[in-house]
Amino acid sequence: MKTRITEMLGIRYPIVQGGMQWVGTAEMASAVSNAGGLGILTALTQPTPDALAKEIDRCREMTDSPFGVNLTILPTVKPPPYAEYIEALIDRGVRIVETAGNSPKDFIAKMKSSGVRLIHKCTSVRHALSAERNGVDVVSIDGFECAGHPGEDDVGGLVLIPLAAQALRIPVIASGGIADGRGMAAALALGAEGVNMGTRFCATVEAPIHPEIKNALVRASERETNLIFRTLHNTGRVLRNEVSDEVVATERRPGGCEFKDIQPLVSGQRGRAALQSGEVNSGLVWAGQTVGMVQDVPTCAELLERMVADCRAAIARASNLATGVR
Ligand code: NAD
Repeated sequence: MKTRITEMLGIRYPIVQGGMQWVGTAEMASAVSNAGGLGILTALTQPTPDALAKEIDRCREMTDSPFGVNLTILPTVKPPPYAEYIEALIDRGVRIVETAGNSPKDFIAKMKSSGVRLIHKCTSVRHALSAERNGVDVVSIDGFECAGHPGEDDVGGLVLIPLAAQALRIPVIASGGIADGRGMAAALALGAEGVNMGTRFCATVEAPIHPEIKNALVRASERETNLIFRTLHNTGRVLRNEVSDEVVATERRPGGCEFKDIQPLVSGQRGRAALQSGEVNSGLVWAGQTVGMVQDVPTCAELLERMVADCRAAIARASNLATGVR
């Protein structure tokens, strides 16, 4: 496969692993990169910039292929020292960074002058245009189906991807709602030059989470996600479980709620413990609507080979339909 994304990032397949809190470790990122995609370490999964530097070194020992680092800029209970995380990743020689959440404009000049290729993930065309103006190299456009933070506009990928591809000169990665080769074929047809997946990569052999969580993802249907933090304008899509049901109920009670009322339920440390213990009802488990399409737990290599074969088959089928070939 050859797109501006494979060329720019030096990868075999235009498949990028999303930045996932507690999941984007060296095991995950190196497995995706070794399989021909772009693995991504999640910066804030590491407690300090120094720990991120060590994780980058560990990842480099596990793969010779390119990988990147995700830096998410969103409300957190304890704001992290973003500039120091950026210093650490530049110092360790990382040359691909995915930013997400708020605009990375304060950090763009520093990263660009250090030779970093910047992918900015956002959820609207207006933010994508602003990121392009500010100098990012790639936009990852995240549809409402996605896990994590879909923004507040509620526009799905089928509308967002072609609008972003039409509006931008820089290449677009389609994110949210993609979990197999058919989705990848659709994304390419809509004008994207690569795809980003998170939920699908959580249910792989190499994902550093408990097998019971992976089984829960396999069992869940596309209707089993909850939108939390809606009333706080920091919407997040997570797997439906006892904790996220309680958050939604608390937000809906008369008079609503403040963040402090739900903070003990949603804390990142509690979610991390759930992923590691396998107790699916003990914390937030972040997942997108594609959870309904996750039906097995392959290795990353099996997943990517299957996706690329299915993508080519889907494009051939559609091409035959479009040209009247039987
Ligand atoms: P945390 O423990 O500080 O916060 C837990 C959750 O509460 C996060 O989703 C955060 O955005 C939200 N939050 C915190 N303060 C808030 C406020 N004042 N108002 C509204 N919402 C608030 O964070 P963490 O779980 O350690 O995560 C660190 C970063 O990673 C955050 O930016 C978070 O949003 C992001 N994250 C991403 C994913 C994903 O990509 N699927 C999953 C979890 C967290």
